[in-house]
Amino acid sequence: VNELEAIARITRRSASPLLGDDCAILRPRPGEDLLVTTDLLLEGVHFEPGKLSARDCGWRALARGLSDIAAMGGAARWCFVSLALPEWADARWLDGFYDGLLALARAHRVQLAGGDLSRTATFACDIVVLGAVPRGKALRRDGGRSGDLICVSGSLGRAAARGYRDRPEPRLALGKLLRSRLKATACLDLSDGLALDLHRLATASGLAAELDASLPIFPGASLDQALHGGEDYELLFTVAPSCKLPATLAGLPLTAIGFLRPGAPGSLLLCGQPLAPHGWDPFQATKRGRKHTGKPL
Ligand SMILES: [Mg+2]
Repeated sequence: VNELEAIARITRRSASPLLGDDCAILRPRPGEDLLVTTDLLLEGVHFEPGKLSARDCGWRALARGLSDIAAMGGAARWCFVSLALPEWADARWLDGFYDGLLALARAHRVQLAGGDLSRTATFACDIVVLGAVPRGKALRRDGGRSGDLICVSGSLGRAAARGYRDRPEPRLALGKLLRSRLKATACLDLSDGLALDLHRLATASGLAAELDASLPIFPGASLDQALHGGEDYELLFTVAPSCKLPATLAGLPLTAIGFLRPGAPGSLLLCGQPLAPHGWDPFQATKRGRKHTGKPL
């Protein structure tokens, strides 16, 4: 397949009116802030081609960006997808990649707005997702206050326990309700593991975090997987202690797992014991191998 054919196939599949010019023309609505997030999906770092179907690969590429928009309490609107394709990625594989990506895009009313294509030795995907949130209302990592409850959606360690094979479901509906209904004070998505992501939230908020024994561990997952396994894509958030936490929201169970308190910013305690902020780190992974990170290369 040559570049013109490839672009024609993608344009046909997406049926997006935003493709075809040198630039996409996007118009945010009045009273909104734009959210922009970017992610790499690389062969050999984030996946092995033999172990992930083309459709799952396309789904995952977009899911990671949508999860970031969910974490900010926003609605996803547009995506830009740039691919560098190796020899093994033929026309059929490319079709499958876009089928997976566009199925998730349609489910969340996200339009493919542009991208680029090139050849390379190993597969690389660079995806940009744009979303929107009412002006000044985005959920950030630095809004946690002393005494706030630390909460999480769904269960922890699911992706690690299942070998990172599942299609992640971005929690967009939940993110909006955390912002509008629960008035969450801080939020991020669990991409790299509870310990590392909570460390980030606590550091940004200038507080320490204390976890109790109430972690919602996925059945079959170990405590280590629940704490340090990445790619769960649940939302980790804080609410004021006066907030009445519903048992479920947007169809997902919510669990209070601890609280923020004064202390060394970013330091973590689990049942009174110090907890190291280990998690998925591509720089550590290349040096130390998969064992330390809990995530397969
Ligand atoms: Mg994130």
